[in-house]
Amino acid sequence: MYIPFNKPYISGNELAYIEDAVAKGKISGNGYYTQKCQAFFEEQFQFHKVLLTTSCTDALEMAALLLDIQEGDEVIMPSYTFVSTANAFVLRGAKVIFADSREDHPGIDENSIVSLITPKTKAIVVVHYAGVACDMDTIMEVAKVHDLFVVEDAAQAVQSYYKGKPLGGIGHLAAFSFHETKNIQCGEGGMLVINDERFAERAEIIWEKGTNRSAFFRGEIDKYGWVDIGSSFLPSELNAAYLFAQLEQMEDIQEKRIQLCNRYKDELSGWAKAKGISLPVIPEFASQNGHMFYLLCKDIEQRSAIISHLKSKDILSVFHYLSLHKSPFFADKHDGRELPESDRYTNTLLRLPLYYELNPERVIESLLDYDG
Ligand SMILES: *Cc1c(COP(=O)(O)O)cnc(C)c1O
Repeated sequence: MYIPFNKPYISGNELAYIEDAVAKGKISGNGYYTQKCQAFFEEQFQFHKVLLTTSCTDALEMAALLLDIQEGDEVIMPSYTFVSTANAFVLRGAKVIFADSREDHPGIDENSIVSLITPKTKAIVVVHYAGVACDMDTIMEVAKVHDLFVVEDAAQAVQSYYKGKPLGGIGHLAAFSFHETKNIQCGEGGMLVINDERFAERAEIIWEKGTNRSAFFRGEIDKYGWVDIGSSFLPSELNAAYLFAQLEQMEDIQEKRIQLCNRYKDELSGWAKAKGISLPVIPEFASQNGHMFYLLCKDIEQRSAIISHLKSKDILSVFHYLSLHKSPFFADKHDGRELPESDRYTNTLLRLPLYYELNPERVIESLLDYDG
């Protein structure tokens, strides 16, 4: 039987809540289920303010608007990330300055940031790869000293922690994803977290197409109109209803995924060592949230061989991010610095199947009899 790389998990109440949203007679955004989801995150993680969006990409675009990124502003971020992290800022005319990853983890090398700062630097965007925290104390301190904003791309980081603090609650702003490949999902979805009160009011306006409609519905003003730039960032209540069903099962989903990661780690560590393969390292300041399990192969040839071997057993394993500083869009805009760790992850990282209903036995057995 075929083992896919990902299979979105349905926790049980999704369709009932969607039916309820339809019955409530209001299925555009910012209704009952949107507010339930937002309140869930504000209460559970003490986030100052949460706005659901149609994707993490949208939440990142909102962050770039809120930081008032202008043509020529510089924004530092890792090269080893998804395109949306960079696109959101490029759309505002920013110059992206790509940083390298840590040697032990694909997250940004916090010690490489200071040398990239210039008088034009406006923000640092960190990516909590695989839901594992970047070194936020160091990064927040650098930002403070140089008067920069910090945005957390927490797309993969739901319910994960840095020294006990929830990820997404540390930077000025943070963006999460509920894409079907993430732990908690609604097909396409996301949210913006506003931790710095200065951005709270404007965030709502940008979210509501540049109008003060949210304040109007709370009865704070007696008419609403066009007060700023903005766009359509609200998801429909249908998505929010689906998402709320997932949030109710969050503990169970997370626990199951963490168990799967631990099982992979326990059963593959001897084999990996013998083959010159490394397994994920969780720095002492970080937690894991079971988002991803990956192998770091010896080289790209070994990775291709393992992908083929698994494919011959009807198992799909995938690699992803290609260093953005070498991408067709960006290569001629990059300043020429080598980013060797980013390139190493590009060439050697291989993601194994991981989803709630996975029985990992056959994946593990198949890897153990790979003798390349
Ligand atoms: C998934 C992901 C995104 C994009 O999320 P969408 O909700 O699909 O827009 C952005 N950044 C990272 C690091 C991701 O993993």
